[in-house]
Amino acid sequence: EEYLICKGSKCTWYRPTSLNSILELKNKHPDAKIVVGNTEVGVEVKFKHCVYPVIIMPNCVPEMNNVTEIGDGLAVGAAVTLMDMEHTFKKYIDLLPKYKTRTLVTINKMLNWFAGKQIRNVAAIGGNIMTGSPISDLNPILMSLKVKLNLLSKEFGHRSVLMDESFFTGYRRNVVKANEILLSIEIPFSTRYQYLRGYKQAKRREDDISIVTAAINVEFQENTNIIKDINLAFGGMAPVTKIATKTSQSLIGQKWNEEMLEKAFESLLEELPLSPSAPGGNIRFRRALTMSLFLKSYLSIAKDMS
Ligand code: FAD
Repeated sequence: EEYLICKGSKCTWYRPTSLNSILELKNKHPDAKIVVGNTEVGVEVKFKHCVYPVIIMPNCVPEMNNVTEIGDGLAVGAAVTLMDMEHTFKKYIDLLPKYKTRTLVTINKMLNWFAGKQIRNVAAIGGNIMTGSPISDLNPILMSLKVKLNLLSKEFGHRSVLMDESFFTGYRRNVVKANEILLSIEIPFSTRYQYLRGYKQAKRREDDISIVTAAINVEFQENTNIIKDINLAFGGMAPVTKIATKTSQSLIGQKWNEEMLEKAFESLLEELPLSPSAPGGNIRFRRALTMSLFLKSYLSIAKDMS
């Protein structure tokens, strides 16, 4: 097999160079950690004293490190770093009609507030999804888009799942099986009547973990302000990134106006309650943030439409 191996007393580290060899390795060692930036795993090992005897580095597997065009969007390899993703998106933003790249613009804007440059230079999009932190900054945007995730394994072959309300099954858990790898993430271009916003509230503006993150993905009926489809996703309001399904459903058919806003506020308070003992505290503040970040999206999208 073609890979580099480093053997230590506690850990063996593999660097495969093809998709086939990474699948072989993951099949042989289902508990192996796939590590790209090590910005999650490193913390687990150093501060939570987790032990991972087998580590696989996918940085030399071409299919996991490319961004390719797929007609109505981009397939981003799971090991593509946040910085490379940002740069590639920027090229498409400069090239394509404005309406088509609203998804890419929203993601790039969020990346501004995602960690610092050092972290973004090494951390990958796949690591953010697979870790599934409830306060991830990218996952709410990806879930509001219900992006398609391409998985691969020796046992099941190719399998695709949507990053919708069923993807995360519990605190930092998801539907991906132990011997599967995340191959790529399909980020769709936006359509003419679709708008997307993502906002993060943290204690400090730069390089801080979020208190609440919101992503709003709305599509209007042609040339109107009537909501055809909408998805509101939130981080920091549950043990998993959450789509406010009930609220989203109840807004379909409504006009983008203050009446809709009131309805959304009422519904959000009901749908994302937070128990008084929820980890992280700041219960009232976080509940207020769901409304205030939605208000921010509402105003910004209204301005964009006019
Ligand atoms: P790694 O640590 O390499 O891997 C993370 C997990 O994903 C592992 O369990 C790994 O096995 C799994 N994995 C990775 N790739 C695959 C794959 N292809 N298939 C299957 N499993 C895979 N996060 C935020 O959301 N916002 C922030 O502002 C933020 N700031 C941070 C600041 C600091 C200082 C640090 C240390 C972390 C921060 N993070 C933040 C968290 C972290 O940087 C992100 O989650 C990042 O995207 C993780 O990527 P990585 O490549 O480093 O993951």
